[in-house]
Amino acid sequence: MQKQTVTPGSEDTIVARGTALLASVRPRPAIALSPGWWQEKLIEWASTDADFRTKLLRFVDVLPALRSPTAVGEHVRQYFRDDRRAAIRLGASAAQRSVFRPVVSRVVRTGVFAMAERFIGAADAEEALPALRALLDGGTAYTVDLLGEATLSDPEADAYASRYLDLIRVLAAIHLPGDSLRQANVSVKLSALTPNFEPAAPGQTWLAVAPRLLPILDAAVAAGVFVNIDMEQYRYRDLVHEIFGAALQADPYRTYPHFGIVVQAYLRDAQAAVARVADLARARGVPITVRLVKGAYWDEEVAIAHQDCREAPVFAEKAATDASFERCTEALLGYFPNLRPAFGTHNARSIAQAMVRAEAAGVPREAVEFQMLYGMAESLREAVHGAGYRTRVYVPTGELIPGMAYLVRRLLENTSNESWLLQRDDDTPPDVLLRPPTPSAEAPLGQRAFTNATTAQFHERAVREAMQNALAAAKNGRGARHPLLIGGRAVTSAVLEEVHPAVEPAAVLGFVARAEAAHVQEAVRAARAAFPAWRDAPPSARAAVLRSAASLLSAKRFDFAAAMIMESGKPWREADGDVTEAIDYLNYYALEAERLGTGGSVESPFGESNRYSYEARGVAVAIAPWNFPLAIITGMASAALAAGCSVILKPAEQSPLVASLLAQLLLQAGAPAGAVSYLPGPGETVGKALVEHPDVDVIAFTGSNAAGLEILAGAAIVRPGQRNVKKVVLEMGGKNAIIVDDDADIDQAVEGVVASAFGYAGQKCSACSRVIVVGSAYRQFRSRLAAAVESLVVGPAEDPFTQVPGVISAEARDRIQRAIADGLRMGKLVARSSTPEGRGWFVAPHVLEDVPVSSSLAREEIFGPVLLLFEAKTFAEALAIAVDVPFALTGGLFSRHPRHIELAMREFRVGNLYINRKITGAIVGRQPFGGMAMSGAGDKAGGPDYVLNFMQPRTITENTMRRGFAPVG
Ligand code: NAD
Repeated sequence: MQKQTVTPGSEDTIVARGTALLASVRPRPAIALSPGWWQEKLIEWASTDADFRTKLLRFVDVLPALRSPTAVGEHVRQYFRDDRRAAIRLGASAAQRSVFRPVVSRVVRTGVFAMAERFIGAADAEEALPALRALLDGGTAYTVDLLGEATLSDPEADAYASRYLDLIRVLAAIHLPGDSLRQANVSVKLSALTPNFEPAAPGQTWLAVAPRLLPILDAAVAAGVFVNIDMEQYRYRDLVHEIFGAALQADPYRTYPHFGIVVQAYLRDAQAAVARVADLARARGVPITVRLVKGAYWDEEVAIAHQDCREAPVFAEKAATDASFERCTEALLGYFPNLRPAFGTHNARSIAQAMVRAEAAGVPREAVEFQMLYGMAESLREAVHGAGYRTRVYVPTGELIPGMAYLVRRLLENTSNESWLLQRDDDTPPDVLLRPPTPSAEAPLGQRAFTNATTAQFHERAVREAMQNALAAAKNGRGARHPLLIGGRAVTSAVLEEVHPAVEPAAVLGFVARAEAAHVQEAVRAARAAFPAWRDAPPSARAAVLRSAASLLSAKRFDFAAAMIMESGKPWREADGDVTEAIDYLNYYALEAERLGTGGSVESPFGESNRYSYEARGVAVAIAPWNFPLAIITGMASAALAAGCSVILKPAEQSPLVASLLAQLLLQAGAPAGAVSYLPGPGETVGKALVEHPDVDVIAFTGSNAAGLEILAGAAIVRPGQRNVKKVVLEMGGKNAIIVDDDADIDQAVEGVVASAFGYAGQKCSACSRVIVVGSAYRQFRSRLAAAVESLVVGPAEDPFTQVPGVISAEARDRIQRAIADGLRMGKLVARSSTPEGRGWFVAPHVLEDVPVSSSLAREEIFGPVLLLFEAKTFAEALAIAVDVPFALTGGLFSRHPRHIELAMREFRVGNLYINRKITGAIVGRQPFGGMAMSGAGDKAGGPDYVLNFMQPRTITENTMRRGFAPVG
């Protein structure tokens, strides 16, 4: 064979190096029917059968939470009874018989635990020592990572930190400082060091993380142990860099040469991350190690971005990630010796290119390291070691239950179609494996008929600054006067009310005119006058006004959010969510105007023409609550305008200012002068007068049950001069429950319940106020929930670190405090957080248990941060408790039991049911929102039926036959 000439750094050299590597890889076939063989089989089936892959991953995920052979047997049957493989079906049918269940349970558990042991080093550091020793004796270095549950509370963060201190102590037994092989090496995840790792608040997050991180760094520095900072989801990336940078600025860490950090090549801006670490190393004058990996959260990053209608931060294609890995390699080597390269990959091409590029860059072989995961690509690692490079194995240790997420990630990686390991099994020829990665041009994001607004990305500094600036401007602009708006004119009234900011009740945020009876008459007259032209405007023209309002609102999103933070005490993300929801309503109903403008479809036989069209009802009023001060009033008003109604905005007494900004914006966007009016004032006077006015045709109301029913009764009375039967659209309160099944993922359930119950201090109609836990999950759920609630950060809404703000008013605070006192009399306290001293009406989040299910506390809306905890023996009992209240707005279920999920879908009758997620945060066009029973009349906002509330259908039939002649078509 002709000898190839290769030049350093060229493609040929890379291929030659890779070929040599692959040639020395010795595959180790598993012995047939051994546990290892079964694992290979499962992985092989999962790689080729997407449905089996989903079932297997889900089953592995739930298994550790199954506390009895019956539960294991039941789940095996539920997950695998329809499988096409006879062996699996056999197991599933055996699981049906109770005599076989203990055996099935044992076999399955042993199998999955063996699979876990393949990827997870040991339950703890002490237990991992033999495996680590064996690695060292074979010439391979290690790094230990501690697997853990999601950190939901301060005690859990403390426990995680102290496990690291223990780890460093235990590793002393095999640690040789200064020896690149035997130096102990640990990998730390910063998000586990606080329950509130908040990218919107880097400064406070640092203050929360530092007391746990710095002792770990101190112990490492004292012993000469290497500390590597791991990377997690993209939204945390910059914050991890910032904390790492802040820690490394202080002595003695500034001069310590044994720190490292990860860069994930699958990120589009990965090279910038390399440069950022290089800047840090240069600034401190001491090198930093960079572990370059491809990245382990791809599915999650893609799903989250897709749900948020954004481009994902990761490359879509594997080849693009591989190419990025090579560019980052080049960049990383260019920063040598300030940056020390460590390449974490199992891909022979990626390894070969790193070797060749390092040589070309003159980086000595001993300064380059290759890292691989425990239990993966062992023979490849040996080949790399054989080529004279230091190799390091990443050894995760921890209990199986918290380790499950890790195991699922590894299985995902091993069963993904694009996994390099599989290609190797496929006997793909080396020249194909070693080809340079050539990504194809990326397809742009698919066009959808309706796209939701994206949320503000507060992990970006510029976005945080925009919000801070808007807040500062809102504070500077205090004291502004907000007149009424009638027929496009600003109208001042005799009474100017002071509006006190929820975040600073003693101050005056602004002044708002209070509408009087005469203004109601004037506004209805103006609305009536504007109505015919607006009704008859082409639907596209109405849609254009709404879209223009949406883009004006997008441009001012931070101003609107800041106004809500001040006026209604909404925390940053809640205020931002309110704005995105409002933008969504405007865009969604614009589309609806166009769709409904074409009418409905009816049959037209030969000789007859039938038309079914929709037309606006007339004058609408939108009577809104204060808790979604922008989104709800925008939703009601924009649906009315989309239909062709003119609309009068009647905001809640507590939140008139944001509504004033909205009314101005709608007029600015081109709504005709009389088609939008703004009439703030008390519900009992202004609201009532509007409801009873004979010339008002539609009342869209969102608020409490009591007010809603009063409005319904008031609207039913026909008054002199009235032309239409009034249409009333009612969205009212809730007493929402979440069921936590006994096989639920407790991390996920606690997080979801806390977010649902205490987000915006429980002041949401969709908030969870009851949680019902099934059987064996109760104790664990209760204790983790209690710790999580005690760790909540209660504080001012302006502070981005705040998780729970104050409530809306002194009256609300007193009412909620009375409910808590009642609850404490009837039941027991499970947990309570602390509250800050200072401005605002703070109520500590409370969890109570043993409150009778029949008490009014357990059946009526509290509208504050109070959560009642119930225990149910069975799932059926939990379901019965959940639905036994007068309301039926939202509900939730955390379960991994397919039959229970199905049952809930059928029997848990609420307007919006959420499974395995929080129960707040419905999104326009995806989760049309509204309740049943006493929660509402079934009109779903943000869905395909809502605009119809403001329209009336008309049918027109024309006989097209004249003297026996009928036109065709
Ligand atoms: P609320 O009922 O006190 O007031 C709502 C609106 O109705 C205000 O604008 C008020 O001025 C007006 N109003 C009150 N009495 C009136 C009357 N007799 N005639 C005409 N108008 C009258 O409610 P709130 O405190 O502002 O909001 C909290 C309530 O809203 C909670 O019960 C919550 O569950 C509910 N809510 C429901 C939804 C939903 O979509 N189902 C959404 C948000 C809030």
